[in-house]
Amino acid sequence: MSNATATGTKKAMKMFIDGESVDSASGDRTEVRNPATGEVVATVPKANAADARRAIDAAEAALEQWSETTAEERSRILNKAHDITHDAIDELAMSLCQEQGKPVSEAKTEIEHYLHGLAFYAALVSKVRSDYVPLPSFPNKGAYGLVLKRPIGVCVGISPWNFPITLTGTKIGPALAGGNTMVIKPASSTPVTAIRVVELLNQAGLPKGVLSIVTGPGSTAGEELISNPKVRRVAFTGASDTGKHIMEVAGRDFKRVSLELGGSDPMIVCDDADLARAATMASVGRFYNCGQACLAIKRLYVFESVADKFIELLVAKAKKLKVGEGTTKDTRLGPLHTEAQRKEVQEQVEDAVSRGGKILVGGKQVPGFKTNNFYEATLLENVPHDARIVQEECFGPALPIFRVKDIDHAIELANSSIYGLGSSIWTRDLVKANRAAMRIQAGVTWINSLHYGYDELPFGGVKQSGIGREHGPEALEAYFEPKSVVFAGVV
Ligand code: NDP
Repeated sequence: MSNATATGTKKAMKMFIDGESVDSASGDRTEVRNPATGEVVATVPKANAADARRAIDAAEAALEQWSETTAEERSRILNKAHDITHDAIDELAMSLCQEQGKPVSEAKTEIEHYLHGLAFYAALVSKVRSDYVPLPSFPNKGAYGLVLKRPIGVCVGISPWNFPITLTGTKIGPALAGGNTMVIKPASSTPVTAIRVVELLNQAGLPKGVLSIVTGPGSTAGEELISNPKVRRVAFTGASDTGKHIMEVAGRDFKRVSLELGGSDPMIVCDDADLARAATMASVGRFYNCGQACLAIKRLYVFESVADKFIELLVAKAKKLKVGEGTTKDTRLGPLHTEAQRKEVQEQVEDAVSRGGKILVGGKQVPGFKTNNFYEATLLENVPHDARIVQEECFGPALPIFRVKDIDHAIELANSSIYGLGSSIWTRDLVKANRAAMRIQAGVTWINSLHYGYDELPFGGVKQSGIGREHGPEALEAYFEPKSVVFAGVV
């Protein structure tokens, strides 16, 4: 593969379309920079609408053959891709760390999560069953139906920069397992590792055109992918406003759409919780990936009676997080992905403070690095609930904490958000846990458990957190169109 050494040597990379490593038709390129140092990691083709069309046409040409392969064959290729990608895991983790900014250990976990998902869909696709339906005697006596699960067709997967590989994998795994073809568009700032992942999938034996990757801006290549009539399904993860736009454009010719958008996940800590464990998990849940996760804990509601003790524990955890470059051993808090992202978080914190919020720890940019992207782990109290940091998605390492009277008060505040992605409750009381599970408006409620998107369970949001589900058997179902076939029976 032509890019096999490029990642390590920071050379010009090619994207992968129709079984080949290619440049963009225009010859234009995009620089990819390391968020920790500002150095150029690689350059990639700056694809435009023509490049996107080429990938779509290839996906369309490959569709008939791929949709007619057996589930066993598709499974075999996905498993092979799993194995050869696993062999490259250290190279891929370093590449991901360099382009995204996250610590190498977190990058490795991300690749492992991607691989788990690939294996999950490789195994699941062989177990898909179609329904047999006996039919009434009019108009055909003895007729029966079969509900087949047919691939949807050419699909597009658009992924963001915060988890560039897992959030690409959540689209590739079920799409290809289900017999669809796919064009991937990674975020313009994190295309490098995704190109390698797509190359490795092709190396595992995908017929040409089944899976391509187009590395171009959302405004040109992305627009073509969501508007081209040959595309029948768009799977997107990213900002809610982009999701609204994609739904509008894709809706013009009734493409199937799944949107995994922003979140402002509440965590509720009850008076009977294991406070030490809850504090540890709150720290991981808010500060992992420097807080840049859709399912990060973004609002914390703690019962008044245990608030002082819990806050003391959590502040101690936040103070211990070592800020540094992702490649430095023991780094727990890497840089934010861009300076704009760091400024956005800082502005949300400043807005909270100007409205009476009190900083318990953090609240400042960390100097001494080659970029201005580093920000302290930050905890706040006394923030009004209509402050920006509460009502918007805070995509960085800052967490407002609220004291609540009881479970009903906590649930009421948890639901006071336009978002509804994840949520968690920490309690030993089944009644409280059950009430949270039933009443919190969210796609997931974790009980005494860390915010984590298991491949085995459907994941997605309600309200402005999106539509449709990734992960689980539900995601595979969402890459099928049910087709009814009626047999006349014995005539
Ligand atoms: P975007 O939603 O703009 O980007 C996500 C992906 O969509 C990227 O691949 C992007 O491409 C692509 N895209 C953008 N516009 C279009 C379009 N018109 N057609 C097709 N594809 C398009 O997110 P941002 O990177 O701008 O992040 C902004 C904010 O969104 C963050 O601060 C955060 O709050 C939130 N966010 C939330 C995420 C989540 O997981 N919930 C993930 C990422 C962001 P390109 O990179 O080329 O623009």
